[in-house]
Amino acid sequence: MSGIFGAYSVKNKTVLEEIYLGLYALQHRGQESAGIAWARGGHAASARGFGLLHNAIDQHKLSLEEANCAIGHVRYVPLESQQLHNVLPVCANYARGPIAIAHDGLITNVGELKSQLEARGAIFQSATNSEAILHMVAQKSHMEPVDAIVDALKRLEGSYAIAVLLEDALVAARDPYGFKPLVLGERDGTYYAASESCALDIVGAKLLRDVEPGEIVIIDRRGMKSLRVRHERPSRCMHCSFEYVYTARPDSIIDGRSVYEARKEMGRRLALKAPCANADLVAGMPDSGTIAAIGYAQAAGAPFEMAVVRNRYVGRTFIQPTQKVRELGVKIKLNPIAELFRDRRAVIVDDSIVRGTTAERIVTMIRSCGAGEVHLRIASPPVLHPCRYGIDTRKEETLAAVRMTLTELCRKVGADSLDYLTEEDLVAAIGLPEDRLCTACFSGKYLEKY
Ligand code: SF4
Repeated sequence: MSGIFGAYSVKNKTVLEEIYLGLYALQHRGQESAGIAWARGGHAASARGFGLLHNAIDQHKLSLEEANCAIGHVRYVPLESQQLHNVLPVCANYARGPIAIAHDGLITNVGELKSQLEARGAIFQSATNSEAILHMVAQKSHMEPVDAIVDALKRLEGSYAIAVLLEDALVAARDPYGFKPLVLGERDGTYYAASESCALDIVGAKLLRDVEPGEIVIIDRRGMKSLRVRHERPSRCMHCSFEYVYTARPDSIIDGRSVYEARKEMGRRLALKAPCANADLVAGMPDSGTIAAIGYAQAAGAPFEMAVVRNRYVGRTFIQPTQKVRELGVKIKLNPIAELFRDRRAVIVDDSIVRGTTAERIVTMIRSCGAGEVHLRIASPPVLHPCRYGIDTRKEETLAAVRMTLTELCRKVGADSLDYLTEEDLVAAIGLPEDRLCTACFSGKYLEKY
């Protein structure tokens, strides 16, 4: 997964520092690399690097540059492809001028597209999906750049939220099923496209709306214009429900639904479905389990405590690339307050169990504080299937709920009881119609075509 942020000022103000700030707000979507691209004197320019944004990009150097249009990207990069040319945005200068592309998602037909492009002479420097899109645009240099982008997007299958920088335009688009979130904002003549609305808040922009599934938004000196990837609209949408469970920040609004409200409702419904009588306290696994824990506690009439403290300067466990790093990450990241747990019957609410590593460690830690009982409640259904649309849940056989029954998993993590939310309750808590949501990693209901 990754985060994208783009800005275009119709008043010709520089937007580079706003891109930096927007990426700061999206840092939770990827901590392995960051990049910003803009056009300078008719050429594409960029600042890119590895790690957190402040390590990857020199803010002072960036403040010396000026551009009224720019795009940025933060990304989780699998370790094997950790080379600078894989850091997005990809940039190039082609017959029609500078171009840069940043993308969140997974293009499922990228192999086939790359073969076709290579047959026509394209040479790839990176392992990114974005570079394939860039070549598709470049090979249509007889077309206007925006038309070439529309043409390229029509050929993509899979999930994408994308931002494209042209010499004097910003293009933002979302795949026809709307897997990945993308919102539009505006402030004082500057238009923004962002993965999440929390990135608009940081630059003081007003949330205008979500980019519709299959919509292509072009922002230039004339303002904002909308096109469609395909004329026929799919009969359903596939907004990623995992965004509401884990990925997105709680202060974001995605497809019209507050992530905070959705998480709290997941917790409330979980308390009704999987109560724990006479609990002394309810605590959430910070940060994505905290809000569901508040909902659980309120519905259960039990006290909520911030009983597990997170070191805020350590990255999110799930998106760190190797098992070894993940295991070390958990040890340094979470710390239970022993006094709150001693001899108490505790309910711990977490957002999900993927591999089970974090759950096992936290239950062990809480038990070592002298807790009387530890009851684990998961504010989403069991993750039983890998994501085919761009979330790195890895192979099916690594998923804890696939490898073990509920009883076995409960024993493995060391809890007194373990229970999950149902898929029905998840959909109801998010509050969008079922035919607008993807729940495939829980239900196995993938789209027939991919
Ligand atoms: S399979 Fe799961 S993680 Fe992937 S898009 Fe669907 S809901 Fe999101």
